[in-house]
Amino acid sequence: MTLILSLKRQAAALRALGAALALAALAPVAGAQTAPSPLASFTRTINAAISGYNREHLTAVTPEACAAACLNDSRKSWCVSFDFYKNAQQCDLSDKRAADVGGLKTDYAGNPYDHYSLIPGPGVPNPIVGPNGRKHVLVVGIDGLRGDALFCAGCVATPALSALAGSGAFHGNVLAGGSQATLSGPGWGTLFTGFWADQHGVTSNDIALPLKKPHLFDRIKTAYPTATVAVVGDWANITGNLKPAGADFVVANAAKNSQQATNAVKGWLSWTNPPTAIFYYLHNVDIHAASYDPFNAYYQSKIAGEDAQIQQVLDALAARPTYAAEEWLIVVVSDHGGTGSGHGGQSAGERDATLILTNSYRNPTKPAYCQGDLTGTTLPQTGALTPHVLDFLGLPNDTAGTKHPACGQH
Ligand SMILES: [Zn+2]
Repeated sequence: MTLILSLKRQAAALRALGAALALAALAPVAGAQTAPSPLASFTRTINAAISGYNREHLTAVTPEACAAACLNDSRKSWCVSFDFYKNAQQCDLSDKRAADVGGLKTDYAGNPYDHYSLIPGPGVPNPIVGPNGRKHVLVVGIDGLRGDALFCAGCVATPALSALAGSGAFHGNVLAGGSQATLSGPGWGTLFTGFWADQHGVTSNDIALPLKKPHLFDRIKTAYPTATVAVVGDWANITGNLKPAGADFVVANAAKNSQQATNAVKGWLSWTNPPTAIFYYLHNVDIHAASYDPFNAYYQSKIAGEDAQIQQVLDALAARPTYAAEEWLIVVVSDHGGTGSGHGGQSAGERDATLILTNSYRNPTKPAYCQGDLTGTTLPQTGALTPHVLDFLGLPNDTAGTKHPACGQH
């Protein structure tokens, strides 16, 4: 609640700035620079809306006019988001963000709405400051990516993932499953908590199963209450039962639309103070898979497609004006592998998940957190994500997982 109030204060400050910008836009001067659109203060989620919580309805408007109305009119100092009716040229202004009301609704018949959320000013300063700058975490989750489907002879080129692994470390056979099914819910639950499903409770893909162990991002917020954390994904469980209880920013992008997820992350990375930790979920390697054979051309084409999305995010990250003075641990993980056209069982291919870790992507002055090919040392899935992030942030690890012995800043 404190955080929400703090964000709203920041929104008020931004609103004043937005008003000035909009006034400038109304008074064009020859030779003057074009003022940014009021929409630049918003992140858009296509085909989504907040269900209810409408405070004011505007008609015969454009998205720009709705954005200006949300920003400018002092009577609407409460406005932090709006839903635009694409066919009717109307909008509903709201005093709620998606994270305040349990997320966005994305299954309206005919997809008549786009959701616009006011960027909370410059964001909230990340409180985790280490010797190499403010410490952030970007977790890239690629559903269903087999560890042996990357960087192999005959694998498709993946320049983004190759650059991440090249600046850090790669493990091509993180062991998913074992005591649990190699399904998405148990796998992500294990990555997010550092425990197996018999402890974290998400034993299947049933969205009604709550996480019984703390989410990694909630551990960060417990240790640093002003840290902010963000999640974007197109699988309802990722933005539902598997999301951090205290998530500050949650975007449910449209199914299979990785570009929307990418745009959400790029928006967060454009803030002066981006979230302390971001989870960026990419679904298409898994959801389209007719085959999880690492040499299957279609599977490889989907890996290449997500790699191109990741490249956009990495370019946005490296373009941050303060990037050299920050330290970002970038972690790429997958929840399970597969065999044939499915997964869930305990074959070697189904258990084979991926890990990439780097803190020095296009930032070579950072002392490497991990380097090289780690595949020779067995790494259970409990150890892949949570123990490394806790270690990187200097937080105690009381999970069931252990970081790789070659990783750590000493
Ligand atoms: Zn999965």
